[in-house]
Amino acid sequence: MNNGIVYLVGAGPGDPSLITLRGVECLKKAQVVVYDYLENEQLLGHVPEAAERIYTGKIGGRHNQDQDEINKLLVAKGREGKAVVRLMCGDPFVFGRGGEECEALRDAGIPFEVVPGVTAAVGASAYAGIPLTHRDIAVSVTFVTGQEVKDTLESRNDWGRLSLECGTVVFYMGVTNLRRNMQRMMEHGRSPDTPVALVRWATAPFQQVLVGTLADIADRAEECGLKPPAVTIVGEVVALREKLQWLDKQPLCGKKIIVTRAAEQAGEFSARLASRGATVLECPTIRLVEPLSWQLLDLAIRELSGYDWVVLTSVNAVRFFFQRLDTLGFDARALGGCRICAVGPRTTDEIRSYGIKPDLVAADYKAEGVVDEFSRLDMHNTRVLFPRADKARDVIPRELKQMGAQVDSPVAYRNVFPERLPPETLFALEKRSVDCITFTSSSTVQNLAAMLGEELMLDMLKGVAVASIGPITSKSCRELGLKVDIEPESYTLDALAEALETHFA
Ligand code: SAH
Repeated sequence: MNNGIVYLVGAGPGDPSLITLRGVECLKKAQVVVYDYLENEQLLGHVPEAAERIYTGKIGGRHNQDQDEINKLLVAKGREGKAVVRLMCGDPFVFGRGGEECEALRDAGIPFEVVPGVTAAVGASAYAGIPLTHRDIAVSVTFVTGQEVKDTLESRNDWGRLSLECGTVVFYMGVTNLRRNMQRMMEHGRSPDTPVALVRWATAPFQQVLVGTLADIADRAEECGLKPPAVTIVGEVVALREKLQWLDKQPLCGKKIIVTRAAEQAGEFSARLASRGATVLECPTIRLVEPLSWQLLDLAIRELSGYDWVVLTSVNAVRFFFQRLDTLGFDARALGGCRICAVGPRTTDEIRSYGIKPDLVAADYKAEGVVDEFSRLDMHNTRVLFPRADKARDVIPRELKQMGAQVDSPVAYRNVFPERLPPETLFALEKRSVDCITFTSSSTVQNLAAMLGEELMLDMLKGVAVASIGPITSKSCRELGLKVDIEPESYTLDALAEALETHFA
């Protein structure tokens, strides 16, 4: 039996969170993904590792020959019995070749499904603050191709209607012929004062919006060298942008920020910065791996009942500790007799996710905070387990020992650094287009220095604002010759994000 099926999935215009839930479902079960040029390759992150990825290598899909090849490829993969996702920018059926691909699949008897996407005009409208229709201003909207006007006499567009009706007109593929198309609308009776907006790379963090009129937009676009891809929105609704634009008002709009973190942790913080308008370049500087030996941690876990306290100072420590507990065949009940100390809200949440309420939460997120909390208790003759990172500072064990506790601090995980920076990050640094770099622990900055070499790092970060999560990280920055420009009062990612917003306000 052959279960081959092809899903034509609209990827949306650029912001990877604009894909539909159905689209993500399809990507998650794909065995083959055939994709065009995507503004944001993040969407491919939904695709299983083992899936075959085929880049069609063409932008826009205008060449018939290439299109035939793509049709054949989809049919062949479908015949092999594969779940195939054909990922297309925007919506598959709006100025895409989705229709032709479906015809080819139908002729070959391959089942297919079409998953709509946010088309460029709709994405541009939302992210530029230009409603395409408005009860008082425009009661219709027309999507037209701006490209067909090769032969001036034989345009298939009904220019009279486009120009005389007062509805909104959106041109796709209209940058090259911008001047001619605007001219035609004026010739056919639309007022030269009609407002026009060009929206380039709509919904991407680097979206550009250029506003003018039918009479002058072509000159303006030429002046600033505006290139495709862009949609051209023509109509009175464009004037609403002045009141309704919201994206450009975001505090981090247009800022390019490097987030140096362990790869598996960066997501949430990056998303927060992106939601405030920043372009985020993730630059993993830490990889978390198992300790060289589990021996000491295993020993402690097997004797958990002998400990009075377990101190967990980071989300990673919690994860590695509980993973190991599980591997050894135990669960949270093994902690029954111990009290738990957590540092900071994230660590607390992580511990709670294992069904455990910490007995003590250090208000100050540094090791010193933990020491402070314990100094109020009688620690004499208590036994403390402190599963830690290999490079952790020794403040906690040292101070607790001074209070009379017996402290075991086995390594639960190690921080190692990846060998190289992601190419986009390196490229942006070389182009000097980065506004800010964030460091969220000493190892992030130390590892970056190790990856680039200290001198090169200092050179590349010239003119880049340095944001550090707290005094210890800042100290490590300074030791490497960096000046810290941004440091929040409390040592949390939320506070760091807020400090960035204030800095750039
Ligand atoms: N199927 C796509 C359109 C493909 S045709 C969709 O539904 O959006 C290619 C044209 O789409 C480009 O020339 C440009 O006019 C427009 N386009 C696609 N992505 C865009 C983006 N992110 N920003 C602005 N215009 C875009």
